Amino acid sequence: MKTPAKRIYNSASVPQEDCVFCKIVSGKLPSYKVYEDDRHIAFLDINPFSVGHTLVTPKRHGETLWDMDDHEIAEIFKVASKVSMGVVAAMNADGFRLMQNNGEAANQAVAHIHVHVIPNKMEDKGKFMNRLKLSGDEMAKVADSIKSEIAKIE
Ligand SMILES: [Zn+2]
Repeated sequence: MKTPAKRIYNSASVPQEDCVFCKIVSGKLPSYKVYEDDRHIAFLDINPFSVGHTLVTPKRHGETLWDMDDHEIAEIFKVASKVSMGVVAAMNADGFRLMQNNGEAANQAVAHIHVHVIPNKMEDKGKFMNRLKLSGDEMAKVADSIKSEIAKIE
């Protein structure tokens, strides 16, 4: 890990014990989980840009990519790649986006490192994507199908 020349500002920055994603990791808050290994979990974004929009997060708390060492950075993108295969298969998507925001200026809403996996269909091409709101039943159904597609990969 290198020492950055500048700090990344985020007004959503909170002590680790108040971190929403740490609470999801520990099970204190519920989530629509699709994947878990020793060091990562993946769960559905509650306000998805497209159906199947998933977040991959390290279990260890850190705010930005700069709080991870090179090995951790490589690992989270490997996990995001694997998760993307399940997301694309389950959603019958034609492509996907990985997005990783650092700091408030970059629209990072939760100050715990995460990688967005956003599936896209051909008809989405060139379109601005709005946040969606799905029912709890729909979210559970989507999470189940992604989870079972990821389980087929290896
Ligand atoms: Zn956290």
